[in-house]
Amino acid sequence: MDISWKPVADRVWYTVTQPHDANVVCIAGDERAVLVDAGGSAESGDSLLASARELAGVPLDHVIVTHHHDDHWRGLVGMEGVESIAHENVVTDTDGEFQPSRTFSLALPLNLGNRFLEIVHYGQAHTRSDVVVVAQSAGVVVVGDLLESAGDPQFDETSKIGGWPQVLDAVVGASRRDTAFVPGHGEPVDREFALLASGDMAILFSTVENLIRSGVRRDRAFEAAEEWPLAEETVRRAIPMIYDELEAEGVVPRTQLPLSSF
Ligand SMILES: [Zn+2]
Repeated sequence: MDISWKPVADRVWYTVTQPHDANVVCIAGDERAVLVDAGGSAESGDSLLASARELAGVPLDHVIVTHHHDDHWRGLVGMEGVESIAHENVVTDTDGEFQPSRTFSLALPLNLGNRFLEIVHYGQAHTRSDVVVVAQSAGVVVVGDLLESAGDPQFDETSKIGGWPQVLDAVVGASRRDTAFVPGHGEPVDREFALLASGDMAILFSTVENLIRSGVRRDRAFEAAEEWPLAEETVRRAIPMIYDELEAEGVVPRTQLPLSSF
């Protein structure tokens, strides 16, 4: 298998894996290296790991997984001699299929030797198990599918669209002006891209919230707004999720004035 690594920053590289063009990132310090995500192919996990070990030139014994979608972790099945680190929710959200060596709920530090990583769960957004790897000294953050530079954001039943802008804003807050953001799919992007993506998610959410508050039912919502910040397919998928998220908070369309009682 031909694996080509592209540089992101000093001793940080990424490669595109199959299926689904999922990015795998290698970050090396003076003493050790890690992978962020493992790709989705159990068969090519071992060659991916061997290639990363050769690239890093220091022992590579940890794989951090950005979330529970299997194009990001199944490659681990083919990797020997590594510890996996992921958010605790990956266990239930993969129905127990993925059992990481180590889980955490909020944050975990990792020292690679003169290079500290902060592994952080900023909250529920793309999934309930989103993990961001902040390599502050390298000027890199690895954000999984919180950002996609090759297309629109993707949602599943564990996504929380209302939480997404705050999560992205927190990641931006942990970055510098020149930080490279490595998404789960697509080429690395800059801070401005992350800010714009956060803005798009915020506009998507507030547009739907305004429709609900003006009494629009979910099956009429798409046509009821003049403008949307994302592609029609993405918006149509998001609308019922946002209705559900807000309904859980008691926000439902009201089509008539409250009856007055005497
Ligand atoms: Zn995903």
